[in-house]
Parts: sequence; C-alpha cells; structure tokens
Amino acid sequence: MPASLHDFTFPALDRALVADGLRPAHVGALWRAVQRDGALSLAARAEFSPPLARWVAEHAGEGGRYFLDEPAVAADTASSDGLTRKFLLRLADGQTIETVLMGYTGRTTACVSTQAGCAMGCVFCATGQMGFVRHLRAGEIVAQVLHVQRTLRARGAAGLRNLVLMGMGEPLHNYDAVLTALEILTDDRGVALAPSRVTISTVGVVPGILRLAEERRAFNLAVSLHSADASERAALVPASRRWPLDELIAACREYGAKTGRRIFFEWTLIAGANDSPRHAEQVAALLAGIRAHVNLIPLNPTNGFAGTASASPAAREFQGVLRERGLPSTVRQRRGIDVAAGCGQLRAEKARAA
Ligand code: SAH
Ligand code: SF4
Repeated sequence: MPASLHDFTFPALDRALVADGLRPAHVGALWRAVQRDGALSLAARAEFSPPLARWVAEHAGEGGRYFLDEPAVAADTASSDGLTRKFLLRLADGQTIETVLMGYTGRTTACVSTQAGCAMGCVFCATGQMGFVRHLRAGEIVAQVLHVQRTLRARGAAGLRNLVLMGMGEPLHNYDAVLTALEILTDDRGVALAPSRVTISTVGVVPGILRLAEERRAFNLAVSLHSADASERAALVPASRRWPLDELIAACREYGAKTGRRIFFEWTLIAGANDSPRHAEQVAALLAGIRAHVNLIPLNPTNGFAGTASASPAAREFQGVLRERGLPSTVRQRRGIDVAAGCGQLRAEKARAA
C-alpha cells in the first residue's frame, strides 16, 4: 500500500528515507517542500539534489511507494463579509470534508475536519445527522491546513495563526491520527503552529481527555457541554450515555489539575432548550472550581433538527448569570452563516442539491 508523505512526522520521514540510503540533508529538503512550502508536486524542484530528485522520480511518482495528499476543491464559498471562506474538499476515495478559513489576514484561524461524518450523533449537528463514514489519516488532516496556507499565500497574507479542530468529526475518537497531525503541524520546520494556538474540541470522549492530561499535551481543550443536566444533555448529545456527565466533569477536573490549563466549554444556545437563567445557574454550579471559559454559540439551524437559535436578549441574560457567578464567557457570533457555517452543513447542502 502506498503511503502519504503527509502522514510522516519529521523523525518518521527521516527513518524511512535514511533506510533508502538518503542523507539527513535530503530529508530536510523533502520535508520543507512538503510541509513548509505545501508543494503539490515534487517534480523539477531546483533545490532538490540529484539523489533526492532520483528518489522522488522512483518512489514518489505514479505507481510509487509514496504519494501526496492533494484534496480536490469540490466547493469554495466566501461569506458576504469576505471574512470566511469555506471549502468542501474531496479526498482520494471521493469522501468530502469541510475546511474553513476565518479572518482575512493576520489573526487567521483554520477549522479542519478529523473524520468523514461522525459517530457521536449530536441531534443538532449536520455531521452527526449524516453518521460515521471513516477516520481521516494524519496526512488528510495536515493537507487541509496546507490548503489553507496556500490560500493565504495566494493572497499575499501572513501565515496561518490559529487552528481549531471543530470541523466534521470527533477528534478524540481518532486520537492517534489527530495527535500525529498536530505533531507535524507544530514542528517548527513546517507550518510551525504554536501549540497554544491549537484547540482540540471534543464532545466529551472521557478516555481521550484523560490521555491528553496524562501526556501533558500543550494544546487547548474545548469541551462541547451544551447542558449541565445529565438527562437533558443525553437528549442532545447521545454520546453522553457512554461517557456520563459526572465522569466527564471528573475528567475535566483531572485535566485541569494535571495540566494547569483553562478549559473552554462550548454551549450551543437553542431557544427554549438550554438557554434559560436556570440552565446558566446549573452550568455555573457544575463548573465551580474548574478554570473555565464558556463559549456561547447561537444554534445554526440544520435540516434534521427543529430547534432554533436563542434570541440575543436570552443570550445576554444567560451570560449575565454566568458573570454574576464568576464564570467568564463569550458569545460567539458564527461568522458567515451565508456559507453554511455550521459543521457539516456545506456537505449536507451539496448532497441535497446533487
Ligand atoms: N466533535 C467535536 C468537534 C466538532 S463540532 C465537538 O463536538 O466538539 C464543533 C462545535 O460545533 C461543537 O461545539 C458542536 O457542538 C458545534 N456545533 C455543531 N453543530 C452546530 C450547529 N448546528 N449550530 C451551532 N453549533 C454547532
Ligand atoms: Fe460529532 Fe461534534 Fe457534530 Fe457531535 S457536534 S455529531 S461530536 S461533529
């Protein structure tokens, strides 16, 4: 089976190429072409020395042992304010995933997918509504970021600054590929993202949270909470039957204690379902003693869920209760609703149109 060069961390690439008789300088040149420059073709690169060019011709061309992950752009939409660009990328097997670039220049953020579909089934989420298709490989996650980098470069903009794993899929259900991708993307010889500018968002996969804590990972953690009541949460987030709320909060406490890091809690505001002052009191009580920041996100309506977004006064009142209880929060207006900004919505829209 051919392997994607995008799947390799620097040390893994070094081992593979040195076994083929190449020298460390060749490994560095190939890595820079793939991971720093985001090359889509390795042929005729002037900086490659003859042995490396021969290796590429023999092993990384048509029918070779290695290939490059090069997702095709199936759709490319820009929000009317020009600040959000959403790509539907087609993978080699025809699966489509979403990748979003937010911000025009400077403080840019990429939002990438970690799976095709998702097994977690959150009722309000377009990706959850389509079910699980497959995990992405590390290289397929890396390739989304490189696509965004090339987009920024084509504009003459500065390189990507922030990365959030908030596209399609549950990152901690695909732990190894996700952490390998993040090792590659934070390598300072490549895209060189700062770990403190990377956020892993999880529905609450408890073993994954404990593993991040155990491994002392320096990334930010966001936990999609949505409700502080076990049975109300189970109705919105079926995965919470497998990892109950009390176990999730215990894992968050352990994560906080081991890493000393603040945890972000995501709360999709759904009118009449989880946006009352009582709900705000509940979450403040639940998170007492945890270094927490709550991100309130008005629901993006999807075809498979009848709920609607909370109105602004309800969101403000909710936030006011959190403030009184000493819990910091931000209401995040989802930018670019006109480009189907909710996760999985662009793919769902294209599927309906087809
Ligand atoms: N699976 C991970 C990351 C991808 S979802 C997780 O659930 O955290 C990223 C965020 O988008 C989550 O907080 C999720 O709850 C939220 N989200 C999904 N669908 C949404 C919608 N229709 N409206 C608003 N937020 C949504
Ligand atoms: Fe999966 Fe996250 Fe969507 Fe839930 S919100 S179905 S975990 S992608």
